[in-house]
Amino acid sequence: MTPSTSILSVALDTPLRRCFDYLPPKASEGALPPVLQAGQRVRVPFGRQQLTGIIVSIKDQSELQIDKLKRVSEVIDSIPIFDSVLLALLEWTAKYYHEPPGEVFATALPKALRGTTPLVNLVRAWALTAAGRAALSGDAVKRAPKQAAMLKALEQGPKAVSGASLRSLQQKGWIESVSIEAAPDPALTCERSSNEAVSPDDALSPNEGDRDGAGSSPSLTPEQATAVRSVLDHRDGFTAFLLQGITGSGKTEVYLQLTEATLKAGKQVLVLVPEIGLTPQLVQRFAQRFGATRLAVMHSGLTDTARLAAFRAAFFGQAQIVLGTRSAVFAPLAQLGLLVVDEEHDASYKQQEGVRYSARDLALVRAQLAGIPIVLGSATPSFESLHNVARGRYQRLSLPNRAGGAEPPRLRLLDLRNEKVTAGLATTSLQAIEQHLREEGQALLFINRRGYAPTLACTACGWIAPCLHCDARLTVHRQADALRCHHCGAERALPRQCPTCGHGLRTVGQGTERVEETLAELFPDVPVARLDRDVVRHADDWQHTMDRIRSGQARLLVGTQMVAKGHDFPDLTLVIVLNADQGLFSTDFRAAERLAQTIVQVAGRAGRASKPGEVLIQTEYPEHPLLRGLLSGGYEAFAVTALAERAEAGWPPYSHLAALRASALELTAAIEFLSEALSLARRDLPTGLRLLGPAPAPMTRRAGRHHAQLLLECADRARLQRFLGPWVEAVDALPSARRLRWSLDVDPIDLF
Ligand code: ADP
Ligand code: ZN
Ligand code: ZN
Repeated sequence: MTPSTSILSVALDTPLRRCFDYLPPKASEGALPPVLQAGQRVRVPFGRQQLTGIIVSIKDQSELQIDKLKRVSEVIDSIPIFDSVLLALLEWTAKYYHEPPGEVFATALPKALRGTTPLVNLVRAWALTAAGRAALSGDAVKRAPKQAAMLKALEQGPKAVSGASLRSLQQKGWIESVSIEAAPDPALTCERSSNEAVSPDDALSPNEGDRDGAGSSPSLTPEQATAVRSVLDHRDGFTAFLLQGITGSGKTEVYLQLTEATLKAGKQVLVLVPEIGLTPQLVQRFAQRFGATRLAVMHSGLTDTARLAAFRAAFFGQAQIVLGTRSAVFAPLAQLGLLVVDEEHDASYKQQEGVRYSARDLALVRAQLAGIPIVLGSATPSFESLHNVARGRYQRLSLPNRAGGAEPPRLRLLDLRNEKVTAGLATTSLQAIEQHLREEGQALLFINRRGYAPTLACTACGWIAPCLHCDARLTVHRQADALRCHHCGAERALPRQCPTCGHGLRTVGQGTERVEETLAELFPDVPVARLDRDVVRHADDWQHTMDRIRSGQARLLVGTQMVAKGHDFPDLTLVIVLNADQGLFSTDFRAAERLAQTIVQVAGRAGRASKPGEVLIQTEYPEHPLLRGLLSGGYEAFAVTALAERAEAGWPPYSHLAALRASALELTAAIEFLSEALSLARRDLPTGLRLLGPAPAPMTRRAGRHHAQLLLECADRARLQRFLGPWVEAVDALPSARRLRWSLDVDPIDLF
């Protein structure tokens, strides 16, 4: 080893899209130089500061003059914090999304580890000094048995002890305070056992039913067994599987049995979920099957301390299973043997700020780098995944039936134009609710809008309550007695009269609050529960609502997308989609896919083993081909038609997109910047790469800033990537880039 000539390439959390070269630290006199490896954290001088960075690689040359390079000032951990697979994944992420490597590395670390907190958990302890050791064998302590006992306890080495005698022992100079590595604490692997405040997403509630019986697994259906066997047959290498099955078809059971087999082989399992708070049953089933101490839960609701504890538990292997939301794709699991992405179609896998990565896509890259199987599960797979199945890149595993033999729900369109409509509810819908209630069922009403009404308007002059910071209307929240902007969060008191002409005001349209109110009026004896982000703010609210519905206390449920995710309501027999039309005529090419996914997911709530379900979809466009296709052929047939349209229009997955977005106080500034970026792009534009824009975003003004974007489209992903690298560098160097906010979004899922 010749540390004097090795050069360390270090990722630092700065906005610069590159790594920085340093020399190894000076070895202290007489000591061996520290062993350095890629993945280790170091402190380095940067300008006038000291920053924490990660050694990305060790090389023997630098573009800079060696004698100009500074030295690392401190090596923080003796071992790498990222193993070679994670290092490669993080480098891939930085390269593919064109983000500064240091920022990407920081994204993957709990806050404490971005500083100088050691990877190992150090605690304060007491150690014998030389004087203390001498005292132990002398006469001095004979008269003080307690002190003697304490010294004796420390004889074998430092310990975290407490006792009244410590202070006097310290004063005598017999013991000293030191830091030692904490013994692993199994209770830390699970957030609720730590004494942190309970997070809203705390999901391991012990009072939930235990249907499977603790720890035991049911015998699999033939389809489930085939799925499990197929994955296990490929466990020694990378294979991607799409596990497609409607809600209740037994996907989770497949994950559980695959996990069991993987743990038995001494490997770890990573399970990604869209939102922990919305999938408490999944977390709970894993905890029940494998015991909460073998599980680490990672999500954005964790406190910094809990996040650090989960990271350490995963790193040191105490946690064999990590269940987490998108950033858990970077969880440090040296023995990873299986990756699962549940509800892989879910938009929340895409990070929309900072490093704009898709956790689903990164999970695939990670599985590939680690050489392990990955299972993507969904009832309504993303078009990207269906396309990958068609191309033979993913192997499809189907679970066509509901476990327990329940019938799939019957779907029906309700033509709103031929119906009397009361506060958004068609007469046929009301009759259906009555009937299902009579038959002891429960009904779920889905509406994709929270609040009371989306619009407050003057009865005389036509004034409509606008957000002062956005091109948007304010939503009426009657319970909060406020007007709120759902785009920037602005809030003001609900006015009583029109501020321009003084006449009365009326609300237009409906949100969950109003539907709840209407149901309470129409069915005064039936308790109603509501589920949306205004109601669910804490774990308790969530649990409370769940308990009310599952116990049958509440029999009518109104909610937003929140209700579409995997909860199990055994008595739910009727689902009504109040307004399917929002997704039908959107400018966003993904709107139809999302609408179909939502309808199928919400419909999946209806009917369980003993009770068949009914689904009513209210629409003003019952002839719309999209709705027709969905009803006659189901999601699969719908996807085939919709994919053909995408192919024709050249949209993803048949092409690849990147969006350069800008926002500024003035729209002209944003457009000018994007126009300069456009000129740069035109200089050497590869063939087949299309530039669209710049154009103002559909909602141009948001939170007081004007937004615009330039879209890049290319059928060849590699060609687009090769173009983006140098182009982003050039854009970054534009003087106008410093005067506004801009970002590059590779594979954007929203075009706004
Ligand atoms: P999904 O994840 O596709 O919604 P689950 O795995 O949650 O489906 O299964 C739905 C229900 O059926 C759950 O209550 C589960 O315990 C039960 N279940 C799943 N597989 C089996 C099986 N092989 N035998 C008996 N019950 C099963
Ligand atoms: Zn008015
Ligand atoms: Zn606003």
